[in-house]
Amino acid sequence: MKHLPHKTIERLSQYRRALLLCQAIEKTHIFSHEIAKIQHITSVQVRRDIMLIGYNGTLRKGYNIANLIILIGKILDDEKGINVAIVGMGNLGGAITKYFSGKRTKLEIAAAFDINPKKIGKKYSGVECFHLDQIKKIIKEKDISIGIIAVPSSETISIKDILVNSGIKGILNYTPKPVNVPDNVYLEEYDMTTSLEKVAFFVKMH
Ligand code: NAD
Repeated sequence: MKHLPHKTIERLSQYRRALLLCQAIEKTHIFSHEIAKIQHITSVQVRRDIMLIGYNGTLRKGYNIANLIILIGKILDDEKGINVAIVGMGNLGGAITKYFSGKRTKLEIAAAFDINPKKIGKKYSGVECFHLDQIKKIIKEKDISIGIIAVPSSETISIKDILVNSGIKGILNYTPKPVNVPDNVYLEEYDMTTSLEKVAFFVKMH
């Protein structure tokens, strides 16, 4: 499973979200073409992804939704859960914390960090905000392995270095400043402006 393509991992997460919605309306089985329609991709792609994780549906009924959700969970989730830290408890940090808190049982925002004295010691959606000075200690104490960077871009590199030196295994960088990480750290960067400009480009060409 370690060698699953990155795009397949992304799509499995999306399939699970769609499957959970179907389960909520008491649907028990689903065909690849139905998942494809929800995700706006081809059913060949869906079948290929699901075959890669070793699951087969039946010709008559399609995939069993509950079983597929469990299998995707086994692949994507860490059994004991993964703790996440957010650095920068501003507009974005606050919104991410609010969005995630209480939603994902296997991914928990366990601590937030900032340097603004007004924010230290406060709780945001139940998550305590610590001073950046405490980061190494808290990451160890709370067994945090993912760090989200949501600071002004001028601070990005120094926060990335701090996270790497604190033993973080994965980083999600929301700032527009790209970073480099050592091989043992997984990095994902999400630049909202690029995404919006991409949409704007296709709107312009339409
Ligand atoms: P913000 O100014 O509201 O929040 C930044 C927070 O980081 C503040 O609380 C500040 O005290 C803290 N901070 C500053 N330096 C720090 C340091 N060295 N260590 C720890 N904390 C520090 O900004 P924002 O709108 O939340 O944006 C944060 C980052 O996310 C920026 O790089 C921005 O470009 C990017 N971003 C924001 C949005 C958004 O919707 N707000 C969208 C896309 C990208």
